[in-house]
Amino acid sequence: MSGSTATTSSTVFSIRCYCGAVTLQANAAPGSFVNCRCGQCRRLSGAAFTSWASFAREAIPLSGNEPLTAFKVSDKVTRHFCRVCGSHVFTFDGRLPKILGVPAGAIEGSSLAPPSAHYFVDHKAAWYDIGVGQPRFGGESGVQPLAS
Ligand SMILES: [Zn+2]
Ligand SMILES: [Zn+2]
Repeated sequence: MSGSTATTSSTVFSIRCYCGAVTLQANAAPGSFVNCRCGQCRRLSGAAFTSWASFAREAIPLSGNEPLTAFKVSDKVTRHFCRVCGSHVFTFDGRLPKILGVPAGAIEGSSLAPPSAHYFVDHKAAWYDIGVGQPRFGGESGVQPLAS
């Protein structure tokens, strides 16, 4: 590491629960950012979708002392919530062990680019019109390319 770097390209995203008891720093931009419209994400968010920023796990250092409560939703997927205010802070999926999925609502600031795709479009809420402009994915897996 050079000590005299005047310009740095390392992007820092702050991930924070509502009450502030959990504050994490991502030292790199998310590898992907999508809106997932599956039934689980709709129920998780209470909205038409959850916006997921997928960060490399190593980009978000965890001390292990964060006041988080883990909730195992399946044998592979564990969601982590602030123990104080209940905010969903990140989800770990054992099928993608190098990734942490962060609900974008917990990311501070405005440096995140807009989501690049819609997943699980076949499962979308009937009352929400996606509109045009972003690639759509669906089918049984939720991530097969669909015609827009
Ligand atoms: Zn909190
Ligand atoms: Zn989903």
